[in-house]
Amino acid sequence: MNPNTELKAKFDPIPFSRPVLGVEEEQAVLEVLRSGWLTTGKVTSAFEAEFAAYCEVPIALAVNSATAGLHLALEALGVGPGDVCAVPTYTFTSTGEVVRYLGADLVFVDCLPNSPNLDLDHLERLLAKQKVKVVLPVHLAGEPVDWPRLAALQARHGFYIVEDAAHVFPTRCDQGLYGTLGDIGVYSFYANKNMTTGEGGMIVTRNREWAARMKVMRLHGIDRDAFERFTSTKASWEYAVVAPGYKYNLTDIASAIGREQLKKADGFWKQRQNLVKAYLSLLHRTEGLALPPWREDHAWHVFSVLLPLEVARDEVVRTLTEAGIGISVHYIPLHRMPYWKSTYSLQGKDFPEAEARFARTLSLPLYPALTMAQVERVCQVFLKAIGRP
Ligand SMILES: *Cc1c(COP(=O)(O)O)cnc(C)c1O
Repeated sequence: MNPNTELKAKFDPIPFSRPVLGVEEEQAVLEVLRSGWLTTGKVTSAFEAEFAAYCEVPIALAVNSATAGLHLALEALGVGPGDVCAVPTYTFTSTGEVVRYLGADLVFVDCLPNSPNLDLDHLERLLAKQKVKVVLPVHLAGEPVDWPRLAALQARHGFYIVEDAAHVFPTRCDQGLYGTLGDIGVYSFYANKNMTTGEGGMIVTRNREWAARMKVMRLHGIDRDAFERFTSTKASWEYAVVAPGYKYNLTDIASAIGREQLKKADGFWKQRQNLVKAYLSLLHRTEGLALPPWREDHAWHVFSVLLPLEVARDEVVRTLTEAGIGISVHYIPLHRMPYWKSTYSLQGKDFPEAEARFARTLSLPLYPALTMAQVERVCQVFLKAIGRP
């Protein structure tokens, strides 16, 4: 073998994340490009119908991001100035920013000692102190939130639940798919998520009234039904604007990708499970390293480990990066972000579990196109980097 080829093969970079797209997606996009109709149309309607059927819900609304979907959900529930929404500090900023779009305020919930998900004891203490209109649980990394316990709290305190299901597609419990259990749920199809449309998202709900509002607000506050109430003739150019809505619709180009990805979603998830099993078996004997516990209903969006206490993350990151292996950190908690910290005068000592997790967490590559050989290589380099080869 040519020594250069050998060198390249040996050091082929392993990106942190990589979408898996095939000829099916390419063909579907080509068809849309050649059809003469690019924006929201028949392909998006088909995608919504197929997604709703997959999730066993009556209504799915396609949007151009999960952030847009979360915004529409809170708007439909009437969230506004004076309202308070509970958000985990251990999440991406999207979950919180949508509350501020509507002029409402947040309370932040710490995570659990053994899970990145929100601590429901902490939530309960917050609920005892103030009225909370909406709780936004995040099934972080793909690990489902303790649903029976959250549902019991909802029954007692009467808040709405908007599920941030960006990480949890497509796993379920007895009552249904995670993301369809709350009042409204929102999935993300961002490029690195478990299925992708490049950018995009899907709202699911069983409530027709909220769905009607979200549909109107998704596209400029245009309500054709309202117009039809005011006039007997309905030309295709006629419409009524009933609110200052948003521009959150998904294109048929993106939906064409989504329809193909949806068909592959179960296979993608199985592959994620296989890769995680490989990671767990290669790493489970490592002293001081904390691994996420295996569960059958985990969607494995990301594989995050907690480094041994004495290991400096920066050095591990440097070693992996030099070896061409991509990493990430999920997440820098919101209470550490300048905007959230200063707006709500947040302090690390009030979120001890999130602080402890953030200090040690590191996410390793995980996506269906990753090979077992690549997982082995990641583990080899990683174990060496943490001094446990
Ligand atoms: C990706 C993500 C979002 C936002 O998704 P977009 O589709 O990019 O708007 C929201 N919440 C969490 C936890 C995410 O990881």
